[in-house]
Amino acid sequence: MSAATTAAAPSGPRQITVEQFHAECQAQGVSAYENIAFVCVICGTVQSIASLVLAGATPEEAERMVGFSCEGRLTKAGPWPSPKKNSADVRKRRQRRGCDWTLGGLFRVHKLEIVIEGEPPYPRFELATPEQARDLERTVKARGHAGSETERVVRIPDADSNSGLAESPPA
Ligand SMILES: [Zn+2]
Repeated sequence: MSAATTAAAPSGPRQITVEQFHAECQAQGVSAYENIAFVCVICGTVQSIASLVLAGATPEEAERMVGFSCEGRLTKAGPWPSPKKNSADVRKRRQRRGCDWTLGGLFRVHKLEIVIEGEPPYPRFELATPEQARDLERTVKARGHAGSETERVVRIPDADSNSGLAESPPA
């Protein structure tokens, strides 16, 4: 007799509901929605709407990109070097934030999916730890992004809002 089957394959992406996603965002303890931070699945750069705006995105672009397309796409940082490479040039490249990755591409390497009943799963970068998120918020503020003009409380995108989560999944 085999043991009870598990819901998801252990090697597949972690699947969470919108409610769990909201709770994990809240748990970062950042001051505003735009500081909720994600970690690029390829280069490990911690990024948020605020950091994307600092890198050159409009707030609307940043909302679409966050947790889905890496900040390096805004700065033309280029692809992330293979872990096997370690020349001086490669080490210098690794000091630059971001890479050209987007979860909309052909290769599916993401580790997190947000699941809404009746819809295909929404792939997302993993959420940053509270420490990473707060570090990024401090760094972004120190670099001159004072936050949005309108006062926004922590508000997480959900399925029916016109935000990153509501975008069409990649074709
Ligand atoms: Zn990246």
